[in-house]
Amino acid sequence: MKNTMKKAGYYFCFLILIILLSGCEKKEEAKTAEIYAMDTVMQITVYGEEKEKAVKEARKLIQKYDALWSSAGTNSDIRKINESAGEFVEVAPETYELLQKSIAISEMTEGAFDVSIEPVVSLWGFDNKDYRIPDETKRKKAVQYVDYRKILLREPNQIKIEKGMKIGVGGIAKGYTSNKLMETFRSMKVSAAIVSLGGNVETFGKKNTGELFRVGITNPLSSDSLLGTIDLTDKAVITSGNYERYFEKDGVHYHHIIDRKTAAPAENDLSSVTVIGEDGTMCDGLSTALFVMGKERALTFQKEHTEYDIILVTKNGDVISTAKEFVLM
Ligand code: ADP
Ligand code: MG
Repeated sequence: MKNTMKKAGYYFCFLILIILLSGCEKKEEAKTAEIYAMDTVMQITVYGEEKEKAVKEARKLIQKYDALWSSAGTNSDIRKINESAGEFVEVAPETYELLQKSIAISEMTEGAFDVSIEPVVSLWGFDNKDYRIPDETKRKKAVQYVDYRKILLREPNQIKIEKGMKIGVGGIAKGYTSNKLMETFRSMKVSAAIVSLGGNVETFGKKNTGELFRVGITNPLSSDSLLGTIDLTDKAVITSGNYERYFEKDGVHYHHIIDRKTAAPAENDLSSVTVIGEDGTMCDGLSTALFVMGKERALTFQKEHTEYDIILVTKNGDVISTAKEFVLM
């Protein structure tokens, strides 16, 4: 009897082990990669049969866009457009689409987002980290050239800006890239994926355990800690904050999101804006725009565009979220 019990005990243990092992087998490992591009660290995580191939494709796509949209590279469309100001130049279809979307966001936000803000961005040294505080005369002069309505698009894939103008796509390129990565993954045998391009996240599908992806939102008032989390699938979560790129001089904090009205870093009641929606490109442009707009205008904007959710954090620490999936830490 004792012996049988013992035997049964062995079988029982064996059974549990098998169940555990099969559990492990079911939990497929993701293929991950870390890539440095667009002046930031990018993390890619892919599940599914073609995960290896998908990561390779992701790397190629990121490198392609990085080269097309850097301000200086020899193959950069942005450099071509800026250097040929006054004339039409032919660009990649992706650059054309990126600028079409940029202009659409400018129109939606009454110019709070404007890719032609670049002369002011570089005046402050945010383009090459050679930071300085420009005087008002210089700022007024630089901002004269800022006007997205003077970016001309002509089919097929031709762009022209006016002499003196300069464009930069830092406020939208990462969202466009994450969006295209998801499109690529969807066309392959990939079951789920999540990418974080310098903290800008986009997800596709669910983890193979059936769980949603959990995305952390940084606390802008203490940027090494989390404000909260949000569980989601098939969406982008994109944040613009005053802590992402900045310098300090004489105790004053100057960050990289520029308000064309002052030709200086946008100063209002906000510390960060997160935009959640299906289209990463739009979310990225909008996060920058809503940051410029300030709390009241951002909330009004969301009421008129309920396909986006927003999480606002004010300078005094208030958190306002329209996303019901958002959980504060
Ligand atoms: P991050 O790049 O840190 O994720 P954003 O998406 O908010 O943050 O983009 C900020 C970048 O966008 C700046 O570094 C600058 O190149 C550009 N930029 C700054 N102000 C504006 C603006 N008002 N409209 C469009 N682009 C802007
Ligand atoms: Mg942005």
